[in-house]
Amino acid sequence: MVSRGKGGGAERRGGSRKLAVKLRTAKGRKIASTRWLQRQLNDPYVEEAKRRGYRSRAAFKLVEMDDKYRFLRPGMVVLDLGAAPGGWSQIAAERVGSAEGKGRVLAVDLSPIEPLPGVEVLTQDVSAGDAPALIGAALKGGHADVVLSDMAAPATGHRSTDHVRVVALVEAALDLAEDVLKPGGTFVAKVFQGGAGGELVSRLKRSFAKVQHVKPKASRPESPEVYVLATGFRGAK
Ligand code: SAM
Repeated sequence: MVSRGKGGGAERRGGSRKLAVKLRTAKGRKIASTRWLQRQLNDPYVEEAKRRGYRSRAAFKLVEMDDKYRFLRPGMVVLDLGAAPGGWSQIAAERVGSAEGKGRVLAVDLSPIEPLPGVEVLTQDVSAGDAPALIGAALKGGHADVVLSDMAAPATGHRSTDHVRVVALVEAALDLAEDVLKPGGTFVAKVFQGGAGGELVSRLKRSFAKVQHVKPKASRPESPEVYVLATGFRGAK
């Protein structure tokens, strides 16, 4: 059941008074899912994403990173890995102008993505052996200026298993980036637990002129997620 909190739960934004939504634990609903739902209902990014027609609150993480580091420019080709439901692809399409015929955005995910203006979609496991060939074909042999990866595997709750899976996904994204990026290109990928591990960072530093870790404000502070931003690709080996 949803009820509007009073007094202490009120929040002020843009001059308007917004009441925080409180949830009573419904019979049969687990405490964790009640907490998740309560957080969603009180999350300004969720509300703003809905208002602007973005498919995910995650869209704002890319907005913030690109506002600060300016790696998306009109006419660019962008490969978005782990793109469903499509929030990052929407931002990339807006910024490169692909809906107006400038640049391209190719969105790849295990899950199907509903059509989006200016976005080409490929339903594909990025870790599969045939992924490089299929993604290369979808790019029509062309190269990308930016490779984004917001890929995340469902957590098992087993720390070391989850860590191995995260690293495997980042490595799969980086393998692809090293195949398709133009010299000078940019790679942005979600990593966890205090950033990319030592080996991955060394590999990134060999392939890119600059490597840094970024935690956008839209990334929940309690989440261990952080993004690695690698710029100035040195060119394919
Ligand atoms: N950036 C997206 C947005 O703004 O809408 C949200 C991405 S969501 C956090 C992570 C995505 O990674 C999921 O849709 C999941 O299916 C995808 N994913 C996980 N493993 C993958 C894999 N091996 N190949 C392709 N996609 C994968």
